[in-house]
Amino acid sequence: MAEKTQDLARTHYCGALREAQVGETVTLMGWADTRRDLGGVVFIDLRDREGLCQVVARPEVSAEAHAKADRVRGEYVIAVRGKVSARSAETQNPKLATGGVEVLADEIRILSEARTPPFPIEDDVATSEDIRLKYRYLDLRRPKMQRNIRLRHRLTMEIRRYLDELGFLEIETPFLTKSTPEGARDYLVPSRVHHGQFYALPQSPQIFKQILMVGGFDKYFQVARCFRDEDLRADRQPEFTQVDIEMSFPGPESIFELIEPLYQRALALIGVTVERPFPRLPYAVALERYGSDKPDLRFEMPITDVTDEMKVLGLDTFPGLIENGARCRALVLPASGGISGTRLRKINEELWLGRIVPDSRGSKRNLLTLKNTDETIANLVKKGASEEVFRKLLAKVGAAKDDTVLVGTDAVGPLSMAMGILRLEMGKELKLIDEKAFRFLWVTDFPLFEYDAAAKRFFSVNHPFTAALEEDLHLLDSEPGKVRAKAYDIVLNGLEVGGGSFRIHDSALQAKIFKLLSLSDEETRERFGFFIEALQYGTPPHGGIALGLDRLAMILAGEQSLRDVIAFPKTASASDLMSGSPSPVPDDQIAELGVLVVKKT
Ligand code: ASP
Repeated sequence: MAEKTQDLARTHYCGALREAQVGETVTLMGWADTRRDLGGVVFIDLRDREGLCQVVARPEVSAEAHAKADRVRGEYVIAVRGKVSARSAETQNPKLATGGVEVLADEIRILSEARTPPFPIEDDVATSEDIRLKYRYLDLRRPKMQRNIRLRHRLTMEIRRYLDELGFLEIETPFLTKSTPEGARDYLVPSRVHHGQFYALPQSPQIFKQILMVGGFDKYFQVARCFRDEDLRADRQPEFTQVDIEMSFPGPESIFELIEPLYQRALALIGVTVERPFPRLPYAVALERYGSDKPDLRFEMPITDVTDEMKVLGLDTFPGLIENGARCRALVLPASGGISGTRLRKINEELWLGRIVPDSRGSKRNLLTLKNTDETIANLVKKGASEEVFRKLLAKVGAAKDDTVLVGTDAVGPLSMAMGILRLEMGKELKLIDEKAFRFLWVTDFPLFEYDAAAKRFFSVNHPFTAALEEDLHLLDSEPGKVRAKAYDIVLNGLEVGGGSFRIHDSALQAKIFKLLSLSDEETRERFGFFIEALQYGTPPHGGIALGLDRLAMILAGEQSLRDVIAFPKTASASDLMSGSPSPVPDDQIAELGVLVVKKT
């Protein structure tokens, strides 16, 4: 039976006691982290969210407290009343913030007993993540999880404070709503009242935040939960949180000026200073130079086009490919990386041919490896290559003596990302990445549409409300694939941490974009009629952005998994192992919804 608590009030957090409290009688409450019986004296490390504090139960101080301490086991919740006393020099524990003091127990009450936990409550647990997730409440007690969740709270509060100071209003938007076209699958909720009709959980508050601009709110934000039913990769969650922002009448620089200081303040929380303005790269340049629309700028290693040089070099390395329009692109591996010939052959086989260019086994799309040495040059000349052209190539890619140049072709697409993947792998392997750096980058001018050859139609790269660059509008009818969007992503250390755009505020143009996306009039009316109508009642030019909060918290906490910064995350198969959801529901509940369940065979 739990002991009474009514006459007890906690006076201090365990982790907050310091020398200043010596001599005071305090009441602590918390979890018994460890209990040691040293020859008749019982020591309990008592833990709460602020840390640990040593409690000492001596029979000569209180025989009753000592007897009670004897019964305490790991994770019991207890209350301790006693005097704070300074520890002698030799018993101080410099590893604990409270290590200079201890509490001499006058009274101990057992408030709650505990079963033996399936894993120890400490930072380095070897337990599988599934077990940790099943017993999440125990996992959350671990100091690291406590730190992460608190850091996330501080981050959220800092962002809220910042946006509030600038006059942004936090406004909630519905969860039970209509499908939002962010390009993922919707989570659907059947309506009990309207059989055969469904709400969709929002993939983002996109349409609502734009309508709030029509509604005159001018500056909106929301720490918004979003739901996307996608097959999950390691860094995705089916429900995730984003800081969703929209503003009316933005100037060309407004979003950049708003968001950069926000990230500065976020990083200041972990003592990191970042300089403004953040660099910007148009999408086409990012792809060309780094082979990625979210390049990691913690190392440079640019990709250089060497198609012209390879054409005239006089080596028949990629037979037929260049003639058929493939481009040759090169990376330089610095000599200091010390990469061996054997490793390079493996990279070609495993990475390039095996993973990056999966269809090319046996084809001639090998990586060409050239080390900048006199010997290589002599060999190439022997094979009939032009020394002059080769030297030109070396100069163009900036290869110093003994550096290795990797040349790949991309016959797959005009701007394949294969070299970008190789660049990243090489950056990691040669330890060129400065792990302590925080490198922001804006990627701008994304294409508005991408063409899906299989579906024979255009899709929005972002979402269909994205505005086009005004100078590209004339291409909408003739070459929609060439139209660039007023869209921007913010990238941190090679991770996309946010993205947004200026929006279309003209209902006729919006209707035209839906047409270009091959939506029939009826479909448009059905899905977005209310939105197009709203745009017809005086819509301010507006734009916004959404910043991934989970991912930012993960980066700040120095974690590799989003699950370590979300209190109750889902697994890769979208399950909650603690509550056991998703789960079957009773037949009558299903019947009420008017839906039929077809069991997967
Ligand atoms: N709704 C977009 C997203 O969730 C962001 C935006 O355009 O503001 O990715």
